[in-house]
Parts: sequence; C-alpha cells; structure tokens
Amino acid sequence: MLVVMQQEASSEEIQRVVGVIEEMGYQARPIPGEQRMAIGVVGNDGPVDSSRVEGLPGVQEVISVSAPYKLVSREWRKEDTTIPLFNGTVIGGPHTVVMAGPCGVESEAQLLETAEAVAKAGATVLRGGAFKPRTSPYSYQGMGIEGLKLLAKARERFGLAVITEAIDLESLDAVEEYADIIQIGARNMQNFSLLRRAGRANKPVMLKRGLSATLKEWLLAAEYILAEGNEQVILCERGVRSFETYTRNMVDINAIPVIKQLSHLPIVADPSHGTGRRELVSPIARAAVAAGADGIMVEVHRDPTQAKSDGPQSLYPEQFRTMMGELERISVVMGKPLFTGSKAVSKG
Ligand code: PEP
Ligand code: MN
Repeated sequence: MLVVMQQEASSEEIQRVVGVIEEMGYQARPIPGEQRMAIGVVGNDGPVDSSRVEGLPGVQEVISVSAPYKLVSREWRKEDTTIPLFNGTVIGGPHTVVMAGPCGVESEAQLLETAEAVAKAGATVLRGGAFKPRTSPYSYQGMGIEGLKLLAKARERFGLAVITEAIDLESLDAVEEYADIIQIGARNMQNFSLLRRAGRANKPVMLKRGLSATLKEWLLAAEYILAEGNEQVILCERGVRSFETYTRNMVDINAIPVIKQLSHLPIVADPSHGTGRRELVSPIARAAVAAGADGIMVEVHRDPTQAKSDGPQSLYPEQFRTMMGELERISVVMGKPLFTGSKAVSKG
C-alpha cells in the first residue's frame, strides 16, 4: 500500500500517518517526491486494511500495490533507478553500459591485459570472478582475496569500475571492501541470508536471475535487498534452463521489456552465460540492447583457449572490439548511446 499525501501536508500530518501504520504492525517508508510525499507500507504479506489511514488529515489517496513485491515495483516508484559509479558510468540512465572481462581472475598478466583491451574498446566496468561458484568442486575456484587485489589494481590503472561476485557471507565482506558493484550469482539468487547481507552493504548489488527462476521469484529476491535498505540494485538476465542442449542456457529476451514494465530497477543482459558459445555472444548482445537493456555483461579473455573457466563463451579481444562497434550503432538507434567513458586509455 502507498499513501500519497497532499502537496500541502504538514510534517505533523505525515508523522501521524507513519504512527498509524506502525500501530497497525507494519513499517512506514517515506518516499519524498517532486510534488508531494508518499508513504509506503511494507511488512504485510496480504492486503492491508486502508480504512484507518484514508480518513487522516493530509492524506490525498491510498493506492494498493497489487504485486507481491513492493519496493522493486513500478507501482511503488515510477522513475527509473539509476546506479552512478565513480568513473562517470551510470547504469539505468540515458546510456547503455558495457561490463566486460574474464570469467575468473587467473593472474596479474591475464587480468591487466584483458582489462586494457576492454577499456580501449569502450567498456567502463571490469568484470572478473575472484570467488567462483563452480558446479564441480574440482573446477577452478578462483584466486580469492588476491584476485580482488588484482581487480583493484586494474581499476587504478585503467579507470574501470569493478564488479565481482560474492558467493557467501565471508566473501561478501571482502567484495564489499574491494569492488564497486557486488555480484550475486544465479546459483545464489535465493540465498536469503546472503541477499539480506547484500541489502546492508554500502555498494550497489547486481542480482543475476536464478537458473530456473520466474520473474516473480527474481523480483522477490531483489525485494530482500531493498527491504534491508539498499536500493542500488541491478538485475541481470543470464539465461534460464531449457530443454535445448545446443546452447548452455536460453536467454529470455522477453524478460527485458517485462522487467522494465514491472520494476524501476535497471536490467542488463549477460549473453556469455546466456548462450555458452562465443559466436552467439554478439548477436544476443545486440538483441538485448534492441529490447531495451540498460547494459551488457560479457566475458572476454586475452586468450580464451587458456581460460581456466568459461573459455568457449569468452570473446577474443578482437571480437569484443567488433561487438562494441555493433552495439555503438544499435544503441544510438535505441536512443541510448553507449557510454564509453572519458577514454582515459586512448582507443587504438
Ligand atoms: C559469472 O558471472 O561468472 C557467473 C558465474 O554467472 P552466473 O551466476 O550467471 O552463472
Ligand atoms: Mn563465467
């Protein structure tokens, strides 16, 4: 439920509404707007009896939020949420943003060479897992804290913002310290204690869609993060399980415009995990931008044949440059030109 106050409502009237909501056993979230104040009601798991609030002085109208998720919904907040980063990148704003880098951080040379290549091609956010959630315990698990330190070094050198995954409460503490965006992976989309912890973090969070999560489950998972107070959340469509075996996952392009309708949160697409095949990454990245995605996350490796994880879906730097040229053109057509930064690292 959303209580919209009259434009001239006094702070005493607003306080009274907050008090009544709390008396009813719910939490009140004041949402200042350009024209007037609204007060959101959270903590209910079903319809709220609005009669006690409707007649209070200063109340203009009471709107029921029909979706089970509240804070992430468009009903709750009409304007798009934007995520500004230190280097001028804004996710969810008027520009399309590209995050790129290796699946996993493997060594200083591997990371820095790849970071330089993606920065020169116009990416402004560097990805790279230091903690890898692998299906097999025998697969490459990542460099841990050493990997985070290398990511910080790459940020320093190339002016790239850094996104990297936290896989549990312990790694989240470390990722919060070193990264600019905390990634929660598909396998952890419903790790509710991790989501709550991410909701108390002082960095933006990118929440990937679970392997077979519905959009409702995904938005409710994001709701956990916002409910703890962190409103800087990005959603990432990374493909879902399907009956098809040719591709690793099936990218749900539908999800992009649907999420835009249902939520004010930015949405990016990950065509690397979405397809599992490098030759499909560019076409699906183009499709995602054409469908209205706020950005793309792509795996790039200086030498994919040597990658310790996800080599077959990692682009060669040259392929990444070509893809960026294509995205540059499509993003202009979509009215959301690519943000390629200050080009601190000169192109070419
Ligand atoms: C990743 O981005 O490296 C990753 C593990 O992705 P996902 O959680 O989507 O499988
Ligand atoms: Mn990967």
